[in-house]
Amino acid sequence: MSDEKDRFGDKLHDVEAAREDQWAARQDAELMRRMREKLEKSMQCPDCKRNLIQHRLGEVALLACPDGDGAWIDGADLEKLAKSMR
Ligand SMILES: [Zn+2]
Repeated sequence: MSDEKDRFGDKLHDVEAAREDQWAARQDAELMRRMREKLEKSMQCPDCKRNLIQHRLGEVALLACPDGDGAWIDGADLEKLAKSMR
């Protein structure tokens, strides 16, 4: 009987773990949405305040200062870029 109870406990644990995964996935999606929004809104260079210019490198998009102060890339695109360089 105690074995039955343990299995139920395991199932309950699986359900809880799945719920936590879903919650984490939602949090990630929300974070990405906010970051993208922020990136799109503040498309100015923090140094010279000029509008950043979007560049495409294959599948990857990045924003760069026209004066060469720097370039910005989101995490997902950075990962794609890193993978393509391996
Ligand atoms: Zn700049």
